[in-house]
Amino acid sequence: MALHLYNTASRQKEEFVPRDPANVGMYVCGPTVYDTAHIGNARPVIIFDVLARLLRLQYGDAHVNYVRNITDVEDKIIAAAEANGESIEALTTRTTKAYHEDMAEMGALPPNREPKATEHIVGMVEMIGVLMEKGHAYEAEGHVLFDVTSMADYGKLSGRNRDDMIAGARVEIAPYKKDPADFVLWKPSADDIPGWDSPWGRGRPGWHIECSVMSRAELGDTFDIHGGGRDLIFPHHENEVAQSCCANGDGTFARYWVHNGFLTVEGDKMSKSLGNFRTVRELLAEAPGEALRLNMLSAHYRQPLDWTSDGVKQSKTNLDKLYTSLQSLSDVEADESQVAKSVLDALEDDINTPKALAALYALSSAANKETNLVERSKIKGKLLSGGNLLGLLQQDPKEWFQGAEEGDVTADQIEALILERVEAKTNKNYARSDEIRDSLKDQGIVLEDSPQGTTWKRV
Ligand SMILES: [Zn+2]
Repeated sequence: MALHLYNTASRQKEEFVPRDPANVGMYVCGPTVYDTAHIGNARPVIIFDVLARLLRLQYGDAHVNYVRNITDVEDKIIAAAEANGESIEALTTRTTKAYHEDMAEMGALPPNREPKATEHIVGMVEMIGVLMEKGHAYEAEGHVLFDVTSMADYGKLSGRNRDDMIAGARVEIAPYKKDPADFVLWKPSADDIPGWDSPWGRGRPGWHIECSVMSRAELGDTFDIHGGGRDLIFPHHENEVAQSCCANGDGTFARYWVHNGFLTVEGDKMSKSLGNFRTVRELLAEAPGEALRLNMLSAHYRQPLDWTSDGVKQSKTNLDKLYTSLQSLSDVEADESQVAKSVLDALEDDINTPKALAALYALSSAANKETNLVERSKIKGKLLSGGNLLGLLQQDPKEWFQGAEEGDVTADQIEALILERVEAKTNKNYARSDEIRDSLKDQGIVLEDSPQGTTWKRV
């Protein structure tokens, strides 16, 4: 089947037909770099990484441009830098680096382009100027505001009527606004906070204009896919549509709007006050990134996902099973001509990752039963290609089971103890042999004896 995506704009699943198959463009709202990423921030990164992998498979690496921005000027950044007593540059550099590391640990490939808001201020000033010229924006008390009454379609993406918008908690009521739903394009900066010269005085951009300008700079006035979490539909994406369509004079902007659902932790909305706020970094100390990734993909992206420690444990077990099958296939080379059609079909159906994982587990079961070498080689090819689409099974199985973390007993130490145990057994010193087994077990190393000898793995 062809790729189908649920389009928030039309509220239905549609076949994905790019404007130009040689230039497929996708823009995803990236992080505001003021704090380390929490697990909710990782959900769109992993979902859109799977979609990017799928697009690259279908259209070719060179024909897909996946853009994810960095918001490095925003009021939360200014507040956090002040609270931490560090410079804005130090804060944004540090958190951007941590973000890259965390997302890489979860198997997310870098986007093709990663523009920073501060590199696009000139474009923002220019777009705001055009909006003013065309009568879509006005200046008031050093601010420039978008006039929502100037756009007949305003509210169409989110399906909100005016009363909903005004009641929306994120709409800031301010005396200088003509209409309570008008939103800020440019705001004045005091001398001690970041600011750039503009026709409206020294100031800084509003958050929404950043994405309209960066997406246009990287992908043009109209492009294929715009993604993000569903909490961004209103006001952020609604306002991006308003700015871009009014400034560019084209009623299209993004053609497919793809939004992922919310994430809760152990049944509750994640919040610092509830004590269930989980950063990716903390979770990575408890489980491998690949297990976190599999856990993230275990729910369909449009459904809410409840993140639980039981779920992570189950995901680790499921991944162990997949790697066990892969390890058992070490007698054959993967037939690389084999694409896992069952995995591909599931993903083409609106990125149905639970179904794709089920298909991967089915391949794993088949591997465990198959004895014919040609068939085993085909299954291995499918397991690896299906895993690759999901960003899973990216390690050598031996590395998966034996890979050490800092401070762990090393492979050499384990091998030496296994030899000592063999010697102890030969000398009928069963107390010592059991002692070695137990002490390794305490350190998370399980020994498996077989007629061919002893193998080990970390659990
Ligand atoms: Zn955005």
